[in-house]
Amino acid sequence: MAPKAHLFARRRRAAISNAPRILYPRVKLPQPPPDGAKETPMTADAPITQDMLTIPRKLPEEGRRNLIGMTRDELRAALIAAGTPEKQAKMRTGQIWQWVYFWGVRDFGAMTNLSKAYRAFLEENFTIAVPEIVSRSVSADGTRKYLLRIAGGHEVEAVYIPEEGRGTLCVSSQVGCTLTCSFCHTGTQRLVRNLTPGEIVGQLMVARDDLGEWPERGRPRPETRLVSNLVLMGMGEPLYNFDNVRDAMKIVMDGEGLSLSRKRITLSTSGVVPEIAKTAEEIGCLLAVSFHATTDAVRDKLVPINRKWNIETLLEALRAYPRLSNSERITFEYVMLNGVNDSDEDARRLVRLIAGIPAKINLIPFNEWPGAPYERSDWERIESFADIVHKAGYASPIRTPRGEDIMAACGQLKSASERARKARRGVESGA
Ligand code: SF4
Repeated sequence: MAPKAHLFARRRRAAISNAPRILYPRVKLPQPPPDGAKETPMTADAPITQDMLTIPRKLPEEGRRNLIGMTRDELRAALIAAGTPEKQAKMRTGQIWQWVYFWGVRDFGAMTNLSKAYRAFLEENFTIAVPEIVSRSVSADGTRKYLLRIAGGHEVEAVYIPEEGRGTLCVSSQVGCTLTCSFCHTGTQRLVRNLTPGEIVGQLMVARDDLGEWPERGRPRPETRLVSNLVLMGMGEPLYNFDNVRDAMKIVMDGEGLSLSRKRITLSTSGVVPEIAKTAEEIGCLLAVSFHATTDAVRDKLVPINRKWNIETLLEALRAYPRLSNSERITFEYVMLNGVNDSDEDARRLVRLIAGIPAKINLIPFNEWPGAPYERSDWERIESFADIVHKAGYASPIRTPRGEDIMAACGQLKSASERARKARRGVESGA
């Protein structure tokens, strides 16, 4: 390890040990009836009514609708449209919500505080479906990468990164990407489609299934959460799928379900300026920006959206974000590319550019992929860059590459899913 590397390792260790433990929010936990309890009839204020039992049970033209990804309002409206009396709909929404998003139940039959008739009604009209795990790879460092199949047979990836006292799930928002950031392999995959809110929330639910993180009745809840943080940094540009991402995050943040605080969610954008203020107002999560360069000439090449909204325009939107969202600081993601953006002059220019913005600069050693037009900066260069930024008063952690052995590191996601697809094609064709 180079001499200064000790300092960085110490700084990182200190940051980890000082990190606050992630505690579950103090919410009143929903309590289902004990196992084997007599089926609980609908409460007195919402009795079973004859019309409920005789209503048309199904909307044939629509088939069964997936509940996952509906906002509370949409769920309530869907229950009413399927035949739930309006006066019961709010209560039913709350009950179903807790079963699905708090307890992780996927079977209407297990919702034991609903009458048998109502469970049958739900079964006939709705499904509870999450993406299917096609494959799961576990790295030597504990990182888990999920290849997930969604409607239409498309595939996306989600990555779980365990750390001391916390864990972060990186989720995708699109299949492919319209932007062509030249350092990112995902950017070479054309956009196929946006993910629905259900497909975005579903990535978190699948990870919790795999980690066994749903609460169990009668068991004390662990002090720390396995998935304590969520980052929208997987495949796609989340702000080009704004409405679906917003609805998904509303579900994720709901205190009676998955209950991740907005301060545990980070949305990463390449710089879709018109949507940044909307993100503050309608989601209010933390913001990260793929910055990566300190001049427009270089950023135009690395992050081509810069030709539309240049550094100055982007910084103006970023300056307003902490106030609008009531968040502490913005994370600037900066990939270290040998000889491209990693000089001391770049570091000094970066510090001047972001002056006045509460910020943290994440330095990301480039994760190489086959055919990549760049190389990772060497360690000494990264340290020198980090020192300048650090001395200017900004946290400048160097991100430890995670999951490289399973191609789960930043910017490597496309290659992994393509490789899996090719392998499967090989098996199917007997190659
Ligand atoms: S960095 Fe993000 S926005 Fe840019 S090409 Fe990759 S996935 Fe798309």
